[in-house]
Amino acid sequence: MELPLTKIVIAIDGHSSCGKSTIAREIARKLNYIFIDSGAMYRAVTLYCLRNQIINSGIVDRDKLIAHIDSIKVYFRLNPQTQHNDIWLNGENVEDEIRLLEVSQNVSPVAAVAEVRHLLVSLQKQMGLQKGIVMDGRDIGTVVFPEAELKLFMTAQPDVRAQRRFDELTAKGETVSYEEIRENIIGRDRYDETRDESPLRKAADAIVLDNSYMTRDEQLEWVMNIIARI
Ligand code: C5P
Repeated sequence: MELPLTKIVIAIDGHSSCGKSTIAREIARKLNYIFIDSGAMYRAVTLYCLRNQIINSGIVDRDKLIAHIDSIKVYFRLNPQTQHNDIWLNGENVEDEIRLLEVSQNVSPVAAVAEVRHLLVSLQKQMGLQKGIVMDGRDIGTVVFPEAELKLFMTAQPDVRAQRRFDELTAKGETVSYEEIRENIIGRDRYDETRDESPLRKAADAIVLDNSYMTRDEQLEWVMNIIARI
């Protein structure tokens, strides 16, 4: 398969829990590109907010968050054991903690705060300057890299997504119910799609990938075929 000789930018957006990061990581590995999970950055800021009582019962204390914003340092570091870029928050590896359901349940209101988005989007834009990057999120093709050579918009049926996430969290030993997971992913999509600041939208030039009935290998093959035609 012929792959692009010059490095490109690949933007992957879509609904919650449909495997965006998994496919993005695999594409990056095949192309020898950097993979960035932008959702991890919003999750890390949310963890900071939870620890500092900036968000309580899903309500963000916006003034307090803005007062703290310069103290929130979020960045990626290569984990030599896994060879993955782990997310760090103020000197601490928080890769595992940000996946907890409590973080998922509070992230959308934090991600709706304009100042948080400005901070993280400017960091993300810098990461793409050299190209050769696959980034997944909610506004990558619309706001972060509107010039990306390839934009995908991923989705899957809510029940399929909820089951996958439920299996993933229970396999890690977290005690969660299928219903609360389902409620969380549907609620997050609604919140992300209706916020004022860069809402989740399919970019006009994005290609839709509905993976409800596709295996991981089928998805990867589908995407790699598209990349080969760029
Ligand atoms: O991708 P993930 O599910 O980890 O993202 C968590 C949340 O972070 C999303 O539900 C959304 O609220 C927010 N997010 C965002 N913009 C991005 C990536 C994530 O608003 N680019």
